[in-house]
Amino acid sequence: MAFRLQRVRYMPQEINSGVLYVSEEFGIAVHLCACGCGAKVRTPLGPTEWNVDETPTGPTLRPSVGNWQLPCRSHYWIYRGEVLWATTWTSEQIAAGRRFEEARRRAYYKVLYRRRIAHKLWQWLRSLFGR
Ligand SMILES: [Zn+2]
Repeated sequence: MAFRLQRVRYMPQEINSGVLYVSEEFGIAVHLCACGCGAKVRTPLGPTEWNVDETPTGPTLRPSVGNWQLPCRSHYWIYRGEVLWATTWTSEQIAAGRRFEEARRRAYYKVLYRRRIAHKLWQWLRSLFGR
């Protein structure tokens, strides 16, 4: 099973297997589950979500795709156009993975929030001492 990248603006109604559809504009990537079950897998793109890299042999999607919510519970990477299968995670591993993702997200937003506060403070100081 291999994937190729297709950049789109809007997600097509009918999507083909083996294609990773990427809409930069709407910050989303969609593909059909690599196991062949036919489920549509949506992965939001962003600094705390998934990333797509284009390589000469195909797209790389990071982090891995864990379809825990699907009946197939498949878990794989799309790496340079190839599907790399991961072992099926136990519910403990899934929970640990979620905790890790949560922590990563919180850390990211904390930095963003601090920057925003610092910026507000700076603007306020400038308004006091500025012309
Ligand atoms: Zn599947």
